[in-house]
Amino acid sequence: MDKKRVYTFGNGKAEGKADMRNLLGGKGANLAEMNLIGVPVPPGFTITTEVCQEYYDLGRDRVVELLKPEVGEAIKNIESLVNAKFGDVENPLLVSVRSGARASMPGMMDTILNLGLNDEVVEGLIRKTGNERFVWDSYRRFVQMYGDVVLGMKPVNKEDIDPFEEIIEKVKAENGVKMDNELTVENLKDLVRRFKAAVKAQTGLDFPSCAYEQLWGAVMAVFNSWMNERAILYRKMEGIPAEWGTAVNVQAMVFGNMGDTSATGVCFSRDAGNGENLFNGEYLINAQGEDVVAGVRTPQEITVIGSRRWAERAGISEEERKANYPSMEEAMPEIYAELNRLQQKLEDHYRDMQDMEFTVQEGKLWFLQTRNGKRTGRAMVKIAMDLLNEGVITEQEALLRVEPNKLDELLHPVFDKKAQSMARVLTKGLPASPGAATGRITFFAEDAAKMHEAGNPVILVRLETSPEDLAGMAVSEGILTARGGMTSHAAVVARGMGKCCVSGAGALIVDYKARTVEVDGTVLKEGDWLSLNGSTGEVYEGKVETKAADMDDDFARLMELADKYSRLKVRTNADTPQDAAVARKFGAVGIGLCRTEHMFFEGEKIKAMREMILSEDAEGRVKALSKILPYQKEDFKGIFKAMDGFPVTVRLLDPPLHEFVPHDLAGQQAMADQMGVSIQKIQQRVEALCEANPMLGHRGCRLGNTYPEITEMQTRAILTACLELKHEGVVCLPEIMVPLTGILYEFQEQETVIRNTAEKVFTEMNDRIDFKVGTMIEIPRAALTANRIASRAEFFSFGTNDLTQMTFGYSRDDIASFLPIYLDKKILKVDPFQVLDQNGVGQLVRMATEKGRDVRPDLKCGICGEHGGEPSSVKFCHRVGLNYVSCSPYRVPIARLAAAQAVLEESK
Ligand code: PEP
Ligand code: MG
Repeated sequence: MDKKRVYTFGNGKAEGKADMRNLLGGKGANLAEMNLIGVPVPPGFTITTEVCQEYYDLGRDRVVELLKPEVGEAIKNIESLVNAKFGDVENPLLVSVRSGARASMPGMMDTILNLGLNDEVVEGLIRKTGNERFVWDSYRRFVQMYGDVVLGMKPVNKEDIDPFEEIIEKVKAENGVKMDNELTVENLKDLVRRFKAAVKAQTGLDFPSCAYEQLWGAVMAVFNSWMNERAILYRKMEGIPAEWGTAVNVQAMVFGNMGDTSATGVCFSRDAGNGENLFNGEYLINAQGEDVVAGVRTPQEITVIGSRRWAERAGISEEERKANYPSMEEAMPEIYAELNRLQQKLEDHYRDMQDMEFTVQEGKLWFLQTRNGKRTGRAMVKIAMDLLNEGVITEQEALLRVEPNKLDELLHPVFDKKAQSMARVLTKGLPASPGAATGRITFFAEDAAKMHEAGNPVILVRLETSPEDLAGMAVSEGILTARGGMTSHAAVVARGMGKCCVSGAGALIVDYKARTVEVDGTVLKEGDWLSLNGSTGEVYEGKVETKAADMDDDFARLMELADKYSRLKVRTNADTPQDAAVARKFGAVGIGLCRTEHMFFEGEKIKAMREMILSEDAEGRVKALSKILPYQKEDFKGIFKAMDGFPVTVRLLDPPLHEFVPHDLAGQQAMADQMGVSIQKIQQRVEALCEANPMLGHRGCRLGNTYPEITEMQTRAILTACLELKHEGVVCLPEIMVPLTGILYEFQEQETVIRNTAEKVFTEMNDRIDFKVGTMIEIPRAALTANRIASRAEFFSFGTNDLTQMTFGYSRDDIASFLPIYLDKKILKVDPFQVLDQNGVGQLVRMATEKGRDVRPDLKCGICGEHGGEPSSVKFCHRVGLNYVSCSPYRVPIARLAAAQAVLEESK
């Protein structure tokens, strides 16, 4: 045998184990592990992820040939463990076939249940079980699933109806029944007959009756589903490589639909929404697993406490709850006790919150799956900190358990309390994924994308969602569904995305044709505003203002812990005292970039600025600048005050001058009047300032070098502000930064202006203050000659926005025209303006840091491009030895955590 392609498990034995997830997929590895630790799992086998690749390389026939001997043996193993025979009429073994990739991809790929049934086996199984309804119900489900998935009958266009669903609706209508479970045995037989006729009509083939033929079809269909559109989209979103492939798990069937002592469900060892240490989940009596996830029937709670909370939200009395919606703890107490014991065992074993699927077949409990549960950002923090407190994991593990980007959710908006109190609650659903969202109603995923592109926030309203809706969900602010429970597709996927979601709002009447949603007589149309509270399940009419979230104690503790381990400091990019204050609250220890441009744009300042630019000579410019000086000084005072005791890097004016001058007639006339010159003169000047390529034009220190008056004025404003604050007892640590340096002399000229101006200010004010003069490194030439520049510059701040632009030669402003195609074709893996290109741009950062420190060992180096708040880029900055990263205020906690993880990952 060249290599092992099949790994068996069952009855406490397994060829695989948990750490083999790359080969066996997450599900396969955990099925093996559960066997090894004594959790009851139906016996089966896993075909490795490597075979998926072989399938794409060698094709179906060759792969079947390669697999045959091992699969045959593995089937025999199951047969001996369950004492039944695959394809046998009298004592048949039925199996399930499921996908299972290395990383969990919920609902993305296909599953086939009840495989092995045919017309003869059905009769045999009826004789064996004595349960005619159950057998025919299983058969009709199998034919439908097999037809949809393996024979390709599931409509590609989602407007089209599944042919099998159409038949079910017809049979129900003909027989005057509403629910599937009201169908009689005769109805079910009729369904199978019609299903098979539909298969023949649509594919020209007879439905396969040979068990092995069915099995190979299903295995290959799972491999095919690795490349279906929704799986590809999901992988793109989650950054999962296509080469990984999926494993296939084949297991003996256990049935949750064998009557009232059978059930199926999904459960979590802790709350995936808020992290509370509370076992929870949902189950359905007499159902198969797909019914829970698909949201076809609304399931009931597993625990009494969960059930009571649910009833309270739904306004159901305790008596009614007990009578009609009992929890599993009440309805099946012994099985519940076993389930509870095993879920704890699994959590203890994996030392993390588990997401589990189970089936009860005639009173016997089986686990079908366990995995580390997906969770919201809030739950991620709480569970990590709780497990730390419980002594289950270490501080280092706790820090590594939180994905930095997930912190975004904790920092994201909640409803403004006042606005919320005035808003009208339309209805209530389940609090499926927390947060607040407000947006315009849309009913279809495609429309959501269009609306989003047009700049509108979107709320996607659906009866229920399916994996086809993924792209629409990704661009929506929030998701609202009329059906489905807390483990429905909408709920699970929204939580994974960290999006607000309310599911199962049963009072909604969604009319896709009319594009309306009605609640208690209120009709809302597509485009109307709607607001959702994913933490309470409330749905509000209209637009409800949101506000930033409060951080809780767990979050604060996590941040403290991050600082304990990190070396890299985190500063912020802030241009206003308000932003500086927010960032400080988030733990920023200084400002790494204060862009001064915006300070010139408001009110009187823009007029004086325009006057300066339009002036003919230095004298006119100095006069205009003297009008700006007091404003600048006050701006700086506000910022330095907010950052009392922390360093503040103020960057001198950067953007091209044409951005400041008026391009409209009225604006030009106003300037002409103000300056007492003709409008033609103004227009000539405006035209003269126009550049073919402003990004590479008269900006950055080229401005300060051609108009040193600007540098003088800004230096004066900064240092005067600091000296005045010094008298008020504020500790200012100013760092003056020259933008867009490419040549040492460009910097040197500016430095001279800065230092001379400083001396003048100090003499005039009869006081001094320490300050540093440094530069942005954002032009490749500056990085290449960093040793020369560092001979004068006291600090470097990498402007990786411009550095990326100039290293790739991609215009920052125009990349959108080709980026999507580049990403699609995998020419680029990610947008280099979001994630630092470590191989190219990163090399320049590393080299410049080393070269700079060769001549100035204490050279302070930081980064202030957008990458400063992106986790993988932050980790790179740590490895290169930068002193700090600087990012927008709301990304400060993300960068702090990433900085700590960088240390921990290094020591691994
Ligand atoms: C940069 O180029 O990375 C930078 C921070 O400056 P700006 O984005 O203002 O050009
Ligand atoms: Mg720049």
